[in-house]
Amino acid sequence: MGRAFTYVILGGGVAAGYAALEFTKRGISHGELCIISEEPVVPYERPALSKGFLLPEAPSRLPSFHTCVGANEERLTPKWYKEHGIELVLGTRVKSADVRRKTLLTATGETISYKILIIATGARALQLEEFGVAGSDAENVCYLRDLADATRLVDVMQSCTGGNAVVIGGGYIGMECAASLVINKINVTMVFPEAHCMARLFTPKIASYYEDYYKSKGVQFIKGTALSSFDIDDSGKVTAVTLRDGNRLPADMVVVGIGIRPNTGLFEGQLTLEKGGIKVNGWMQSSNSSVYAVGDVAAFPVKLFGETRRLEHVDSARKSARHAVAAIMEPAKTSEFDYLPFFYSRVFTLSWQFYGDSVGEVVHYGDFSGSTFGAYWVSKGQLVGSFLEGGTKEEYEAIAKATKLKPDIEDLAELERQGLGFALAV
Ligand code: FAD
Ligand code: NDP
Repeated sequence: MGRAFTYVILGGGVAAGYAALEFTKRGISHGELCIISEEPVVPYERPALSKGFLLPEAPSRLPSFHTCVGANEERLTPKWYKEHGIELVLGTRVKSADVRRKTLLTATGETISYKILIIATGARALQLEEFGVAGSDAENVCYLRDLADATRLVDVMQSCTGGNAVVIGGGYIGMECAASLVINKINVTMVFPEAHCMARLFTPKIASYYEDYYKSKGVQFIKGTALSSFDIDDSGKVTAVTLRDGNRLPADMVVVGIGIRPNTGLFEGQLTLEKGGIKVNGWMQSSNSSVYAVGDVAAFPVKLFGETRRLEHVDSARKSARHAVAAIMEPAKTSEFDYLPFFYSRVFTLSWQFYGDSVGEVVHYGDFSGSTFGAYWVSKGQLVGSFLEGGTKEEYEAIAKATKLKPDIEDLAELERQGLGFALAV
């Protein structure tokens, strides 16, 4: 059996939702677009899963965070898809793809063919087993990528109030989940191999601000080591965590956030890959002209840096998805994607934003003992990256604008002296 569509979006996450909205804004007929997703629900704002979803009081629940509320756009509920004649094939994994024949084969045995395919398969969480540690399937070991994971995490968390959690990984998941666990009255120890948290983005000075804040909330840090093994009891629960440095920590639950791998498997050997993702041009088009890739799975040219990057953040998923649809529907009017990388996080009452690239020399500014401070990254005499904690909307817009303009920086000491004022004056 089989069905045919003009446009098929493979994957039903953030990028799929924003692509669907863009298709309807530009005008598609009923029955032209199909979204196939392994998840059983229509696209939602994934960032909510490590923030509002984990709150002990008045937690966010669907349908409140379906796309595209995160960018102050319409909320696309199942009813919205129905009204726009968009075919949803949910709870269905695509198990193989044939880009030459333009077909996808689902795990339920259906062949779905397309004229244009948008790959929006995102990524999967890396498992401890990939680092040689067994025990991911223990009842109280949690990962966090999708709604099912988040629902499970909430259940485990609720059974551990007052207990001990070990958080493995000092990246985004580790930091955001540790904060949520504390808010849920769970004692947290964070364990990661680097010298400080958020090692790929934060400078030691920035990291120490957040680590001190977390410590003030009772979080303990064990740095420079990794997990070695779990003690698992007869009921299949982890009771303790042993680290490579010999430390043994009692644990009522474990949260693992050790990075992701893009879901490219269906297309390996069929499309060109780069930086672990599907290589696309400035119109999000892959090495096959009928196939586009967006979101976490796409490696695209970042004009500002003059190189191909794969970004794992929601703003990039939203904008790359919309750009692909513009390029598909109105190619003559669509120029090359010109994207300014944007990352952010919110934990406790803290909130930071980063724009650009974290390379080169760093200049810190502001009050690191207060609540507003930041940093600039300067490479080859130009401002290339900006970080700000505790800014206002206008201040965040200013650092974004300044970073996009890449102004020449002759004097780092002067930049430090001007601090945030530099971006506000650009
Ligand atoms: P996804 O949203 O992951 O969607 C991929 C979809 O494809 C899923 O529905 C999946 O089931 C489906 N799929 C994959 N393979 C198949 C297949 N073979 N068949 C059918 N369906 C398939 N970024 C930020 O910038 N800020 C944040 O605060 C932030 N918070 C986050 C919190 C969490 C808990 C997580 C996990 C991520 C967070 N991110 C954040 C990252 C952001 O959510 C991702 O960058 C974004 O979701 C990427 O969108 P995507 O559509 O490419 O992939
Ligand atoms: P990250 O890449 O942010 O962080 C992974 C962390 O785990 C790194 O500190 C990494 O160290 C460390 N690590 C790797 N292997 C081990 C190991 N064996 N033991 C202990 N630590 C290890 O990934 P996350 O899992 O935190 O996040 C998953 C995805 O979700 C990312 O794409 C992220 O962008 C996204 N996300 C984004 C958020 C945001 O933007 N606010 C919020 C939540 C998730 P090393 O650097 O040395 O590899």
